[in-house]
Amino acid sequence: TKHFPVRRKGRAALTGPRRAVQAVDDVTLTLRRGRVTALVGESGSGKSTVARLLAGLYPRTAGDIRLHGETVNVKRGRAFRAYARRVQMIFQDPFASLNPVHTVRYHLTRALKIHGRAGDDLEKSLHDLLTRVQLTPAERYIDKFPHELSGGQRQRVAIARALGADPEALLADEPVSMLDVSIRLGVLNLLRDLKERLHLAILYITHDIASARYFADETMVMYAGRMVEGGDSETITQRPAHPYTRLLIESAPDPDRLAEGTASDVPAERGAGEPPSLIDPPSGCRFHPRCPVAMQRCKTELPPRFDVGDASGHWAACWLYGGAAR
Ligand code: SF4
Ligand code: MG
Repeated sequence: TKHFPVRRKGRAALTGPRRAVQAVDDVTLTLRRGRVTALVGESGSGKSTVARLLAGLYPRTAGDIRLHGETVNVKRGRAFRAYARRVQMIFQDPFASLNPVHTVRYHLTRALKIHGRAGDDLEKSLHDLLTRVQLTPAERYIDKFPHELSGGQRQRVAIARALGADPEALLADEPVSMLDVSIRLGVLNLLRDLKERLHLAILYITHDIASARYFADETMVMYAGRMVEGGDSETITQRPAHPYTRLLIESAPDPDRLAEGTASDVPAERGAGEPPSLIDPPSGCRFHPRCPVAMQRCKTELPPRFDVGDASGHWAACWLYGGAAR
């Protein structure tokens, strides 16, 4: 859970009621090695905040991070540094995440050194990292500056840098949405290949549910800071249960056209209505003001996760799937 306090200027800060942006509420997520988990939602749904919480970049308002069953205390101690090495973040904009005055060699060497992995044969380690991300021959790339590379190559360098830590998990926040459409699939395929070969857990954050179907084993859908549906990607995209997920899929283009260049360009927000304010989110089910099948109780009672019952592990936080039982 993450609430950002809303700072106000002047007297109101002292006298006004305490307010907070309820950016992420009660989100539970399990990553497993060898699996890609997609976190899908429109902008402002809280999905990037979830990644930053997991990376330890923000303190949490409530909740735990556990690694192999052990709670990680995100307080900058040694245990936290060990955790932070195992969980590496890939950002949306590789240009912003690489320092423009430094070469590929510098970025990768630094990553290896920070994580104590520079070893005896630094040159070979660098070569291996670049080969892992399919920047070959490595000699062609190693002394380049970020601006001498294409967007896709820069993102591959950012991935290589993350691999320099020998991580168990990658947290990839919209890793291809700023790239040219023609090269997105290549980068996703690389991540999938790395998942297999290095047995990584990958959190794939995206607004594009079509790409989640293509790339992720498991998909979770977020709306207004809460998770509303989860299950294996095939089930979620073929038989969405939550009315919000249905809306997302109806407004997304044909997933088969992902490679041709239209899919990821269409924002998920195209569906009816606007996402709600997270300072004062709707009561009950946060989706109720936009939901075409909202019932009376939806306005006041927050729906818990219910089994949808059509596939193992498929759940939806929606009264359509459990109203009678309660
Ligand atoms: Fe719609 Fe109610 Fe389900 Fe929310 S709980 S998605 S308002 S039917
Ligand atoms: Mg974001």
